[in-house]
Amino acid sequence: MIRYLTELSLEAFIEAARNVPYQQINSDLFPGIDLWIRRDDLIDPLISGNKAYKLIYNLLEARDRGLDTIITCGGAWSNHIHATAAAGLRFGFKTVGIIRGHRPPVLSAMLQDAERFGMELRFVSRLDYKKRNDAGFLAGIGLGDVAGWFVPEGGANLQGARGIQLLGKAIEQTKPIDFEECWVACGTGLTLGALASGMKEPTKLVGVPVLKAEPAIREEANQWASTNNQNDRFSLIKGAHHGGYGKSSSILEVFQCALESQESLVLEHVYTAKIAYALAEQSRMTTSGKGLGAKKGVLLLHTGGLQGARGVVK
Ligand SMILES: *Cc1c(COP(=O)(O)O)cnc(C)c1O
Repeated sequence: MIRYLTELSLEAFIEAARNVPYQQINSDLFPGIDLWIRRDDLIDPLISGNKAYKLIYNLLEARDRGLDTIITCGGAWSNHIHATAAAGLRFGFKTVGIIRGHRPPVLSAMLQDAERFGMELRFVSRLDYKKRNDAGFLAGIGLGDVAGWFVPEGGANLQGARGIQLLGKAIEQTKPIDFEECWVACGTGLTLGALASGMKEPTKLVGVPVLKAEPAIREEANQWASTNNQNDRFSLIKGAHHGGYGKSSSILEVFQCALESQESLVLEHVYTAKIAYALAEQSRMTTSGKGLGAKKGVLLLHTGGLQGARGVVK
């Protein structure tokens, strides 16, 4: 059954987060591991995955301030833009999406969705886009007078981090077993870092960078984790990006097909297939040559973003 976020309130959101299912995976692709996938892709079909968590406090903040517009920015396949546009339509906010680069003759499927959800798209040059974290950014692109709440790219602000902490708490309250490790795909690293301050010891957090930016991701994760002195709580898997952000490889595609055909779940190549592949690879390496010991309990977060599957870069 498909569930939707129908009401903009913290209570309703926490309830939805507590109802996200955990799926146990019994696949020989992950030897030696008792693997569970938390299906945050199912929290809502459109306001999906970790982006829903990054948005909740931003939406509440805008409403509390009496602002009727959410302004944010991203690229042509941004899951955050997609989720923000859907959330605006659902909860009655106008939305403005500042998109990097010139308007192409044919919009990406994601941007077509965003427009259909009512988002006003503003294309800005790559040079202007570089200033997206500067104080004068909105004024510089002619949006200085809009009475809107600005959400940085990817939902990377304090409200975004608080939402991810809420995810961490929901996991602590609903986890089916005690996990030794919790794996999460990293774009900026905010989700990894903020989870470290939302979840309890001794679960170790393992981040899988999906682009060639490990040092920046480590720094970002540290920044969001350090408020609670939790910055030794996570590690990063190196070289799991399959060529870079949005890139895929034939080995990744074969793996994704195999897993999807064995288990009832859908992944995408940008984040979730890469994290599952990295975990499978590590489990194969650590079990080879050893006898059958007790299985290690691992939680893998399905952070949603399935709309991005439409944008394969070959
Ligand atoms: C944005 C995104 C991530 C990465 O989140 P960060 O907080 O930027 O590291 C992971 N998975 C999916 C599906 C995403 O859309």
